[in-house]
Amino acid sequence: MKVVLQNLTKIFPSRSKKSGEEVVAVSNFNFEIPDGKLIGLLGPSGCGKSTTLYMISGLQKPTSGKIFFGDDDVTNLSTENRGIGLVFQNYALYPHMTVKQNILFPLQNLKGEDKLSKEAMLERAYEAARLVQIEELMDRKPSELSGGQQQRVAIARALVKMPRVLLLDEPLSNLDARLRLQTREEIRRIQKETKITTVFVTHDQEEAMSISDMIVVMKLGVVQQIGEPQEVYDSPANLFVAKFLGTPPINVFEGKVQGEKLFIGEAAVLDVPGVSDQEVHVGIRPEGFTLDDNGPLKCKLSNVEVMGRDVSIVSTHDHSENPIIRSIINADQRVNVASDVVSYSLKPHKVFLFSKDTEERIFFEVK
Ligand code: ADP
Ligand code: MG
Repeated sequence: MKVVLQNLTKIFPSRSKKSGEEVVAVSNFNFEIPDGKLIGLLGPSGCGKSTTLYMISGLQKPTSGKIFFGDDDVTNLSTENRGIGLVFQNYALYPHMTVKQNILFPLQNLKGEDKLSKEAMLERAYEAARLVQIEELMDRKPSELSGGQQQRVAIARALVKMPRVLLLDEPLSNLDARLRLQTREEIRRIQKETKITTVFVTHDQEEAMSISDMIVVMKLGVVQQIGEPQEVYDSPANLFVAKFLGTPPINVFEGKVQGEKLFIGEAAVLDVPGVSDQEVHVGIRPEGFTLDDNGPLKCKLSNVEVMGRDVSIVSTHDHSENPIIRSIINADQRVNVASDVVSYSLKPHKVFLFSKDTEERIFFEVK
């Protein structure tokens, strides 16, 4: 089932009449979510992710704009009639019911022609339990389960009605690091197996990058960029997106373009054909540096961290916008730790320029 968001906008009125402005939680969101894909909706807290999800679910009504499931306009349809499965950060299981009863619950409320026989309900419940691998826990109470298991039950409960669209709002936030990794792999597997169109909300870029077919990066209610994770990482549309994606984060320098050459301080560090003279923000991915004694970018060496396969070099520079610069190089390369200075040349496809005024990307030709 494809899901189409058309000029989707949500404005919350100001809380007090006297002061305060209205909040534009989501502004003019347009996107056609392809059938059967997992979409990661990504951005910092307060950027409008949950509000978008609630509008898709019907829990909140858009101020303007439309939502389609396939060709059906569902904008004014109630949540119950949309055929969605919802999973929240807190598992919200019924504590007095067993796992089986929790999973069966949505089916017991089906009315009319959707009503199922007892056998059919049980079959569906066990099918959902099998998908999330909790069949052996069916007779336990939620309090007898780990956080990860509880979240699986919540997912099974969302799947049991065979939803047209699965909506997950920060489903892993309450889990510890190891379970978070494991459960996100599970969600990916379940989504691939069921092929249900899924929107996965998270503020964690690594999480979104690792499981999504496509990511949508939002800031202050406005979509910044939509694309495959690698595509967005390799070609960020603006400084915000460049900074939001990647661990370690991108390094940002103050730079200046003059005569189609990029300067950081006095050093000409890269040819940037086609870019007019101006001041810029220069983003350099940690993997964009090559150790090179004759390299133009000279940084003050602070520390070298060996991480097995890679080496992470920490340095500083007067024109760095971050307190430290972190580069990642192959462990085969040797750093002269006795030296105060580390010299780099740059990989052009790992260097991004952004307008000083608008912070939008300025493209140059990479030879
Ligand atoms: P996210 O899920 O990305 O953290 P939200 O969608 O929850 O962000 O919120 C987006 C913005 O809308 C925030 O500024 C938030 O304070 C505001 N907001 C969310 N819900 C309401 C509400 N019911 N009333 C007023 N403002 C709201
Ligand atoms: Mg939220």
